[in-house]
Amino acid sequence: MQFKIFEPGIEVNGQTVYSIIDGLGYFTNISRRYLSQVGIGTVVDKKLVMDKDGWYSQEAWLNAFENIARQIGDRVLFNIGMSIPRNAEFPSWTTDIKSAIYAIDVAYHLNHRKNGERLFDARTNTIKEGIGHYGCEPVPGRNEIMSVCNNPYPCAFNRGILTAMARRFEPLSRVIHDDSKECLKDGADSCTFHVLW
Ligand SMILES: [Zn+2]
Repeated sequence: MQFKIFEPGIEVNGQTVYSIIDGLGYFTNISRRYLSQVGIGTVVDKKLVMDKDGWYSQEAWLNAFENIARQIGDRVLFNIGMSIPRNAEFPSWTTDIKSAIYAIDVAYHLNHRKNGERLFDARTNTIKEGIGHYGCEPVPGRNEIMSVCNNPYPCAFNRGILTAMARRFEPLSRVIHDDSKECLKDGADSCTFHVLW
């Protein structure tokens, strides 16, 4: 279900959180309000002061998303998702659309931590559980990747991340929400997307 943490004690890094500010563009008063009201950053002289190198509660960040979803809507959640790859830390080994979509799950775990340890360990190339996943299943013989997103982030935000990463290598690619499958928006555990190019 979107906005509901899988387990307590997970933190997300400040660079990733900053994507809300980036995704809302010039509406800095709005991003300032949504983040400060959940306890992320403090307002000083009408500016949100936050530490891009710091770590913040995932639960608080999801609360900010829930408020944005309720009060503004999917369009902004999509834009915030689109701004994730230019703010959060992503692996440098992406060379095509398949590796770019695959890298989302790695980056996702790299930018979350528990007990002070990132959920992706680059030395051993291993992922720790606790926040769900961004799937990447290339469809044989077709220019298509199926991505099952089972994570607590909103449907439209996930579509934004997939779109931004797909367009890095295939500017004309499209990301289609599979309406025949369950959706996080309806309280299900996942959404399914088809990345086409
Ligand atoms: Zn959905």
